[in-house]
Amino acid sequence: MISRRLKRLTFVNFSKTKEDGTRPSIERFIHGEIYRLQPDVGAVVHTHAATLIPFGVSKTPLQPLYHMCGFMNGGVPVFDIAKEHGMTNMLITDHKIGRSLAGTLNRSAMVLMRGHGATIVGASIKEAVFRAVYATINAQLQAVAIMLGNPKYLADEEAVKADELHQLVLERPWDYWMKKIDKK
Ligand SMILES: [Zn+2]
Repeated sequence: MISRRLKRLTFVNFSKTKEDGTRPSIERFIHGEIYRLQPDVGAVVHTHAATLIPFGVSKTPLQPLYHMCGFMNGGVPVFDIAKEHGMTNMLITDHKIGRSLAGTLNRSAMVLMRGHGATIVGASIKEAVFRAVYATINAQLQAVAIMLGNPKYLADEEAVKADELHQLVLERPWDYWMKKIDKK
């Protein structure tokens, strides 16, 4: 079962060299530059999830609406590629742009990318995937809550406490998602 899950795994290093002959993502610089800047990051998820896009292009900040998204405490920064790099195809296609993105992420768990998507980090792949999944749900819920009017977001202290709790119970959702993959 493990080998089935890992069939799309590609090994790359910080240079252009591919270690296994497969074709790495054009946006591998997202991962490489974050790992380079933050050695305590153990996993990076990059997504083009549609529900996150509006929060990267509008003045409405993505905020922790419920307990699953305490990792958004302190706010979610937005990376605008045009600020430093002018007119591009919006993707992170070299080391320089990757470094800019990693700098905007800084010590946050997540960075929105204007007109592109988002990148989420964690100490482990389980934590990064957990955060990525619930960030997209938070975005859906936040849009609904704004339509209903004046949502009350988690206070920073509440968000920190919720995040601490979820770091202890990452196994359960991970096992559920793995079972869903195995059934396919
Ligand atoms: Zn992308």
